[in-house]
Amino acid sequence: MRVGIGQDSHRFDFEDKEKKLILGGVVFEGHPPLKGNSDADVILHSITNAISGVTCVNILGEISDRMCFEENIKDSSYYVKEAMKYLGDSKIIHLSISIECKTPKISPKIPEIRKNLSKLLNIPENCIGITATSGEGLTDFGKGLGIQVFSCITVSP
Ligand SMILES: [Zn+2]
Repeated sequence: MRVGIGQDSHRFDFEDKEKKLILGGVVFEGHPPLKGNSDADVILHSITNAISGVTCVNILGEISDRMCFEENIKDSSYYVKEAMKYLGDSKIIHLSISIECKTPKISPKIPEIRKNLSKLLNIPENCIGITATSGEGLTDFGKGLGIQVFSCITVSP
């Protein structure tokens, strides 16, 4: 069995009134979007990094930039799928996600995010755990300037 850890963080773009805030593939209406060239889905990026932590093939950076700028792929689910290609015969059996942000409130959307991730990763919803903390104003995430996510995936050989 192998375990991969991934992290990502983005700051909010309070000026951008057109882009949407998307977390785990789920749209959060009425909130400022995250800054980034892609859809800046910080949950999907941290999952992508966690998968890379197992495959040792990094997707975020050179490869995602090429997909983003040359192929105009801004939907981060494609970066996750790209990372999954390198899993070979290994299967993701569990995913644990920890989110820190003051806003938006994550808890009400957790069922929807789990459902979406279950489809994307092809694992049962009860193998996806998501927790969220407000950060108590201690960090920039806790102060409402952005969102930080850690993901941990377990992969069977
Ligand atoms: Zn990112």
